[in-house]
Amino acid sequence: MPELFPLIEKLERQRSLTEAEYQSLMEGRTEAAAAELRARAVRVRKAVYGNTVFTRGLVEISSWCKNDCLYCGIRRSNQKAQRYRLSPEDILACCREGWALGFRTFVLQGGEDPWFTDERLCPLLRQIKAEFPDCAVTLSLGERSRESYQRLYDAGADRYLLRHETADQAHYEYLHPASLSWAHRMDCLRALKEIGYQVGCGFMVGSPGQTARELAKDLKFIEEFRPAMCGIGPFIPHKDTPFGDKAAGSVELSCYLLSILRLIQPNLLLPATTALGTLDPLGREKGIQAGANVVMPNLSPVSVRKKYMLYDNKICTGEESAQCRGCLSARMAGIGYELAVDRGDPKKFESQGGVCGAAPYCAASLSSCHFEGACD
Ligand code: SAH
Repeated sequence: MPELFPLIEKLERQRSLTEAEYQSLMEGRTEAAAAELRARAVRVRKAVYGNTVFTRGLVEISSWCKNDCLYCGIRRSNQKAQRYRLSPEDILACCREGWALGFRTFVLQGGEDPWFTDERLCPLLRQIKAEFPDCAVTLSLGERSRESYQRLYDAGADRYLLRHETADQAHYEYLHPASLSWAHRMDCLRALKEIGYQVGCGFMVGSPGQTARELAKDLKFIEEFRPAMCGIGPFIPHKDTPFGDKAAGSVELSCYLLSILRLIQPNLLLPATTALGTLDPLGREKGIQAGANVVMPNLSPVSVRKKYMLYDNKICTGEESAQCRGCLSARMAGIGYELAVDRGDPKKFESQGGVCGAAPYCAASLSSCHFEGACD
């Protein structure tokens, strides 16, 4: 039996490994181990979410950013980046189009653009929630104050996506300018959770300087933080950044990590990201077949899509929103999955006589389960 199989077995049973064990899983990766993880992850994913894939309509609201992250194409000091900002009316129009196409979650993502004050965002959030009461709104606007997160939540935002980028402080400092702090990023994540958001964290796979050690820390962090969502995708260089000549991350390693994350947390919302689809024409299909259960088609106006260039050769920048959803729907149907018309909240397991609804994938009694958060 291949060396890693006992570890994989343990991971599925206990949904937890030590950091050293996660590191062994990373260092010993073989195609056989990947296939074993995939099979188990897909089984768990089907037990929790069936063959439905949740969708989120992604509206890229601004390419202005006050930060200077070394990997990102819209970093402040990239003079060649084309800047735009959608107006609240533009954003509402995207939501209207998205609703008609079947989206029930809108993700407003952007650089850290000071124009989007709480005074501008809160009325917009209230308007979106009033017009589409059956929809969830996710924000992905970077680091803000706790008070701001609270105001946005009170105005109707349901979810917040803030990738932790790396759980290792020294690695964080290598990827970011000195003005950004790992501790602050982590504080933001904790504040978001305390306020009541469904929180998404995540990281790039294969970012410069990342080794099995950093990845093991990411896995342990996610296991303990227990986010509702986790966005991971390969790092892809952008030519006009300091990391322009670094190697891209790999689709295979990204999928391997998706499978592991599915086993750590069976109900985790795991997107098969655009970055996966950019590196490999079948990347998103591979992500779903490794255990992911979410896709995020682009809902931004076609006129701005090429300007939200986080990395080179980003896909889906030329098509209309309807085409994007249609394309993904056909891709998912092609591998036996179906896009849901649904908010796509994380599924809560129902308790079944002392054993949670993840059975038979979990043998722990409710009182001894370290994962009690998913069982209420
Ligand atoms: N400003 C927001 C949104 C950032 S864009 C924030 O700070 O959260 C969303 C994600 O894209 C980032 O968190 C990062 O992980 C990813 N990203 C940025 N540049 C990338 C690149 N070159 N390759 C792959 N992913 C990248």
